[in-house]
Order: sequence, then structure tokens, then C-alpha cells
Amino acid sequence: MRNSAMPNTPSITNNEDFSLCRACGGECCRTRPGIEAPARFLAAANPAEELARLLASGLWVLDRHYGVPYDPGKGETGDPDRIILYPRPATRRERAEGTLLVVPGAGECVLLGDEGCTLPFAERPRACQALEPASDFACTAAWTRFDAAREWRHHQDTVEGALALLDSRQ
Ligand code: SF4
Ligand code: SF4
Repeated sequence: MRNSAMPNTPSITNNEDFSLCRACGGECCRTRPGIEAPARFLAAANPAEELARLLASGLWVLDRHYGVPYDPGKGETGDPDRIILYPRPATRRERAEGTLLVVPGAGECVLLGDEGCTLPFAERPRACQALEPASDFACTAAWTRFDAAREWRHHQDTVEGALALLDSRQ
């Protein structure tokens, strides 16, 4: 299942630790597929078309982030009514239902195989690459869904364009 993605953020060091993740049982991939950053799509000739292509595959969906992350220390203010959409691989249930939008609740990523993720490290979503396996399984990430929301808030036109493209093809 390596054909639905393209390389992104190749500068991130491969932090895979198969022995740790095997011992863990793959908790992250079984419960919350990682969010992808805008960079993958912005690198394409037509970002909205690239996002539409992934969503049309049935392997990706748009997740929702409620509110805008902000830093009061910088004088920023939030917007609790704003909803930011960002893409991630689908859960098995989302794929089975054929939805474009998130189905609430934990679920296993469709890209998880018997031997772990079926994508090469360089093709995984940004949040998956950022997750650092830890020996106590309290794994942390330097790039979270809040970072995803901060980045995607500036590219909601790409999301809207992808949805419009998919709508026009129905
Ligand atoms: S990254 Fe952490 S949570 Fe995910 S499978 Fe590995 S040890 Fe488990
Ligand atoms: S894309 Fe791969 S690493 Fe990310 S959640 Fe899915 S199976 Fe896990």
C-alpha cells in the first residue's frame, strides 16, 4: 500500500524502534492515525488535487480540530468556534464506511500491516514521523495535532478546493 503517498519532510531522522514498538503492540497505530502536515501537498503542482487524490483513495480522511491554538503570552487570542480540517490516514471503520470526514472514536490505521506501518518512514504522516518510541511507552512527539492545526489554518483553501473537486466528480 505504498502507492498512495509521496515522500515528505525527508530531513526527519528515522526514529523507528521495532523492538520497542513490537513490545508495545502498536498502540498509537491501533488507536489514532497520525496527522499529515501541509508540506506534502504544497510540494505538489496542484495541492488541492493532490489532497483530493488521497481522499478519493479511501485510505485518507479529514479530521477536525476545534478551535485555533494560540499563545496568550504572545498576545494571541483563540477562536473556539473555528474548525480546522486536516488530513490523516483513515481508520478501518472510516474506510469501511467510505467517509471523507472523521468518524469519532479510536480506531486502527488502515496503513498498519502485520509487520508495522506499510509505508516507508519517509512517506509517513508528519505526526507519525515525529512520535519518538520510549522504553516506558510514554512516547512523545515534537509535532502534535496542535502544530498541525497551526499549520493547516493557513491552508484551509486547499482543503476546501479538494472537497470541491471531489464534489464535482460525483
Ligand atoms: S511509537 Fe510508542 S505508542 Fe507507538 S507503537 Fe511504538 S512504542 Fe507503541
Ligand atoms: S501511517 Fe503508519 S505509522 Fe502512521 S498511524 Fe498509520 S500505520 Fe501507524
